[in-house]
Amino acid sequence: MGNTTIALGAATSEASAWDRDWASRGACRNSDPDALFVQGAAQNRAKLVCGGCPVRTECLAEALDNRTEFGVWGGMTERERRALLRRRPDVESWTAYLQDAKRDFETATRKPGSAVLPAQRGA
Ligand code: SF4
Repeated sequence: MGNTTIALGAATSEASAWDRDWASRGACRNSDPDALFVQGAAQNRAKLVCGGCPVRTECLAEALDNRTEFGVWGGMTERERRALLRRRPDVESWTAYLQDAKRDFETATRKPGSAVLPAQRGA
């Protein structure tokens, strides 16, 4: 099994939950939809839009789970997604896999002392 590096969604100071309504919050939501379905060097420009997208991980998971063949999704081109799927045939659900990875990433990058205490939540 090879190493797989996937850029997760933009890190925030607080952990964020998995967003099931991700499509309405994508950084590309007001862009020309055709801009993500380009070829060659234009794909690198399209990927820049995904760079700071708050739902990048969710978007990528959906594309991988659905074996979406065309376009830039979650910051990955179709070629990159195909390569990832070939490298990791053991992953049955990319949504579950990336949900776990996102949670672990957010836990590991949370600043010490930034946890929300029950008293702060009004409990
Ligand atoms: S990751 Fe990219 S393609 Fe997916 S919603 Fe965000 S900006 Fe759009």
